[in-house]
Amino acid sequence: MPRKRRRHQARDQFWIGYCRKSSESEDRQVFTLQDQAALIRDYYEGLPPQERLSRPLRLVEEAQSAYRLGRPVFGNILQMAARGSVHGVIVVHPNRVSRNHSDSGAFVQRLVDGQISCLDTTSGKRYTGADSNDIFMLTLEGAMSWKDSRDKGDRILQAMRSRAAERKNMGPVPIGYRSVYRPDGERELEVEPERAALVRRLFDLAATGTYSVQGLTAEASRMGLRTRLGKSIQKSGLHLLLRNPFFKGEVRFDGIVAKGTHEPLVTEAVWERVQRALFGRRTDAGRPKDLSVRELFFFGNLLRCPKCGRSLCPYRAKGRYVYYECKNTTTHCGVCVAQPVLIEQLRAGLGAVLLGEEALGGLRTRLLESHAKKSAGEADDRRILTAEYERTQREIGEVFARRGEAAALGVQDAVDLRLEDLKRRRAELRQRLDGLHDRGAVWVEKVIRAFELSRLLQEAIFFGSRRQRELSLAAVASNLSVEGKDLMLTLRTPLRQRADTGGRLVWWRGLYDVQTEILGTVEKMEHAFSLIQTGILA
Ligand SMILES: [Zn+2]
Repeated sequence: MPRKRRRHQARDQFWIGYCRKSSESEDRQVFTLQDQAALIRDYYEGLPPQERLSRPLRLVEEAQSAYRLGRPVFGNILQMAARGSVHGVIVVHPNRVSRNHSDSGAFVQRLVDGQISCLDTTSGKRYTGADSNDIFMLTLEGAMSWKDSRDKGDRILQAMRSRAAERKNMGPVPIGYRSVYRPDGERELEVEPERAALVRRLFDLAATGTYSVQGLTAEASRMGLRTRLGKSIQKSGLHLLLRNPFFKGEVRFDGIVAKGTHEPLVTEAVWERVQRALFGRRTDAGRPKDLSVRELFFFGNLLRCPKCGRSLCPYRAKGRYVYYECKNTTTHCGVCVAQPVLIEQLRAGLGAVLLGEEALGGLRTRLLESHAKKSAGEADDRRILTAEYERTQREIGEVFARRGEAAALGVQDAVDLRLEDLKRRRAELRQRLDGLHDRGAVWVEKVIRAFELSRLLQEAIFFGSRRQRELSLAAVASNLSVEGKDLMLTLRTPLRQRADTGGRLVWWRGLYDVQTEILGTVEKMEHAFSLIQTGILA
C-alpha cells in the first residue's frame, strides 16, 4: 500500500463536533446550532468509553453556507486533521460537512488517508476510509447536497427572473420610495415625496457634470438625505444610487430589463446624462486636475474694458500667465490685468451670495411678511382701479347708445373718436388690474430660486467647461469689468442687493419693487442651468 504514511499522531486528539447552519434557503428545515450541538453531545456521550478515552469532544460552530468555498472553521478542521489532532468528526448529517465538490473531496480524501478515522452522524451511521462503500456513499451524499443547493439556488434565480419579468422591484426598497400593500394584497412601491425630491435634486446636480461623487455625497448630507435606516449616505452608496436604472423607471435582473410598474423619479434623458457625467469623471480626481487648462482664459471675452466698453482680450504670456488687455487701437486704454487676481475676486464676490438652507428659510419668511404688508396697500389701488374700470365700461355703453342719434346729427365721427379713447382707457385699466392680480407671492419663491440657482451655477463657473462657465457667469452677472486691478462684478437682482450690503440689515426690503427684474434673472439662470443639465453645453 503506497499510503502507508500513517498519520503522525498528535499528543492531543479530539472528536470534533461540527455544527453548521447557513442563513440561506438550503438550511430552512435544518436543526439550529444549539440543537445540533445537543445531538452531537448526546451521541458522543453514548460512544463506547474506549472510543472516548483521552479524546475529548470539541464542539465547533459555523454559520455559513457549505455551497461556496472558504469556510474558516471547516478549514481549521482540515488543518487539525493534517496535524493528526482529529480522531473523528460528528455531524447531524453528512450535508453539514460539505455541499461543494472541493470541500467534499478534501474531507473524503482525509478519511481515505486515515488522517481522520471516521465521520459519524448523530443518527448512528459511521463512515470510515477503510470501507469503499462508505466512501462511495459519502461522495454520493456530497454530490447530492451540492445538487440540492444548486437546484434551490436555481429556483431562487428563476423566481427573481420571473419577478423582474413581472416588472417588480427586487431587493431593498430604493431611497425615495416606500413599500405599500394594494387592496389585493400585492406589494407595490410608492413615491415618498420628500425624499424623492432630494433624490431628484441629486440627479439634477450630478447631471451638470460639475460635481464629483464626493461633492455629491457632501451635498446629499447637507440637504439631509438619509437612508431608510436613518444613516447618512456614503460615497459608494451614492454612486450606486446614481447608477440605479430603477430611478428612471426600469427594473433589471440578470440581464433582463423591463419597464417597471413604479413611477420613475427622473427622466431617461437626465439619467443618461448622469451616467455620462459619472463615466466621464475619473473617480480619483474629484475636480479636473489640469489647472492650466481649467483656468486658461477663465473669463473668455466676458470682461469689459472700463474705458471704452469693448471686450478685453485674453492672452498668454510665457505660456503660463494669463492677462486680459484692451486691444482697442484707437483709444489705447492701457488696461491690462492678471487673471488669478480676478478669479480670486470673483470667488469672493460670488461667495457673498451663497445662502444656506436655513438662511433661505429665514429669507422666505421675511419676504412673505414684506409681501403681505405691501400688498395690503395694493388692495386699495385695486379698489380704485376697479371702480374706474367700471365707470369707463358704463360710459362706453352710454356713448355707444347715442351713436345712432349722433349719426342722425352728422357727428358720428366725434362719437367714434370718443369711443376709441374710452376703449383704450379701458384696456389700460384692465392691464393694470391684471398686473395686480398676477402679483401673488410667486416672486418670493423666485427670489429663493435665484439663490439656489446661484449655488448650482457657481459649480459650473468654477469647475465647468468653458461654455458652461461663460453662460453661467452671464446669467448671474449683468456686467464684468475691471477697474485698476479690481474686478467689477455687477450681479443681477436679487443677488446684487444681497452682495452690495453684505447681507446686513434689511437688504431684502427693496425686492418687492423689482419683481420684474427678479423674474428676468431667474429666467436667465434657469435657461443656463437647463442647458448645462441636458448636456447641450458640454
Ligand atoms: Zn478699452
